[in-house]
Amino acid sequence: MRKPILAGNWKMFKTVTQAQSFVEHLQELNEVPAEVEAVICAPFTSLLALHLALKDSPIRLAAQNVHQAEEGAFTGEVSALMLKDVGCSYVIIGHSERRQYFGETDESVNQKVQAALAHGLLPIICVGEDLDQRNQGITKQLVESQVRAALAGVKPDDVSRLVIAYEPIWAIGTGQTATAQDANEVCAHIRQVVGDLCGAEQAKRVRIQYGGSVKPENIEELMAQPDIDGALVGGASLNPGSFASLLRGA
Ligand code: PGA
Repeated sequence: MRKPILAGNWKMFKTVTQAQSFVEHLQELNEVPAEVEAVICAPFTSLLALHLALKDSPIRLAAQNVHQAEEGAFTGEVSALMLKDVGCSYVIIGHSERRQYFGETDESVNQKVQAALAHGLLPIICVGEDLDQRNQGITKQLVESQVRAALAGVKPDDVSRLVIAYEPIWAIGTGQTATAQDANEVCAHIRQVVGDLCGAEQAKRVRIQYGGSVKPENIEELMAQPDIDGALVGGASLNPGSFASLLRGA
């Protein structure tokens, strides 16, 4: 009952021209399976061009960050209303790189989640432990507290529509992936936490992605796990051929 969702997180890569050429190549490959929801998470500068290029395509558009305020004197920031207006369906919130380099906290993540939902944007909320925390054996507690904080005050029905991405920090961009079983265990725990917060029905509906060095070679094994409903992919999503294989694998 949960439609798999594969999101390519381009991070700070691709100019407008490069983004347009990606879409042209992807469309030539003509390989977006109807059973999978495909999402491109692009830098702000490429969103409008992608929105126009993807007009007749089922591929959804996402931003990689949003500011929590409605509008105001926040130089350099972009609001949820602006993202919705430029054609975004989703927005990544609380990616570990934003938590690490831009001071995002559980609290600001929660505010951003609320701001996104208020404008009909669906958050892709990122959670995950670093290597030290993993070695200390506190992965589940840590992820649980991130999920609880991110979802504080969010209506159960909204929770069932959003996406949670479990991304162990030590696996991001390192070529090291969690084993499919380990990843599934944490995703199952996240689902349990959602159930605890919002009820069993919502927990059954919420989609949980795995992220961290996902590539065409390992996507099938990850997707075969019962609690993994998709992937958030960085490096391997930058090339149209590889993105198309990921979609097929999902
Ligand atoms: P990666 O990045 O696939 O390059 O490991 C994943 C992410 O940061 O979302």
